Amino acid sequence: LGRRELRPGGTIVRIGDAAVGDGSLNVFAGPCAVENQQQMLACADIAANYGSVGLRGGAFKPRTSPYSFQGLKWAGLELLAEARQHTGLPILTEVLDPRHVERVAEIADGLQIGARNMQNFELLTEVGRSGRPVVLKRGFGCTVDETLAAAEYVLAQGNDQVILCERGIRTFEHATRFTLDISAVALMKQRSHLPVMVDPSHSVGIPSLVEPVSMAAAAAGADALLIDVHTAPEQALCDGKQALLPTDFGSLMGKLELLAMGL
Ligand code: PEP
Repeated sequence: LGRRELRPGGTIVRIGDAAVGDGSLNVFAGPCAVENQQQMLACADIAANYGSVGLRGGAFKPRTSPYSFQGLKWAGLELLAEARQHTGLPILTEVLDPRHVERVAEIADGLQIGARNMQNFELLTEVGRSGRPVVLKRGFGCTVDETLAAAEYVLAQGNDQVILCERGIRTFEHATRFTLDISAVALMKQRSHLPVMVDPSHSVGIPSLVEPVSMAAAAAGADALLIDVHTAPEQALCDGKQALLPTDFGSLMGKLELLAMGL
């Protein structure tokens, strides 16, 4: 269902007022995890003030260690809803459990399937049924073909509002957190009619690389970027090392705007 030949003009995925796949570069930004009201609203203000089209923030966090911060869960979703009301921007958040999909979909504008769940087929079917737009992150041990096949689970439920997200894969290279597969961005655009997002933050894991990698993603044809921004990255409860400071986020947004203007 996702093959490019079936829809040569591509698909536009609408998350709130954002139209991903319309030819522009859409930035969704916010903290990796929702931590508290003050942090979420401050990050949301930064995202909004610099021109993001949507807010990101994890309420349910899929952590490698069970002893790490697991997210505020339902309370985090309420804070995201408050951030939406505060900024007017739609919210995108991860859902981990098929049993939570209906309730998360009542609050969130877009549902994120994390890399660790890309092949959780029950979850994919459930988000497909929800009818909500879905951001499907590529598993870090999965091929492009497997990613496209995972998207079919959502499409098969009659939900064509799917964004494919390249967020880096595991390779022998450990200088960056993961290796961003930039060719996958162009390849998925060729093979699928679905829009493609890139998450430079989770892929490189190094703030100073987020800007050049974002520019590369734009040049490769990405329709959207997913960027971690935090007012105090050193105090973040999750993945603080990769989050951009507000000023660096502002500078990135300025450069992306110049790129869009062809300057
Ligand atoms: C995230 O975006 O919050 C996240 C956990 O990313 P990934 O699933 O790509 O690791």
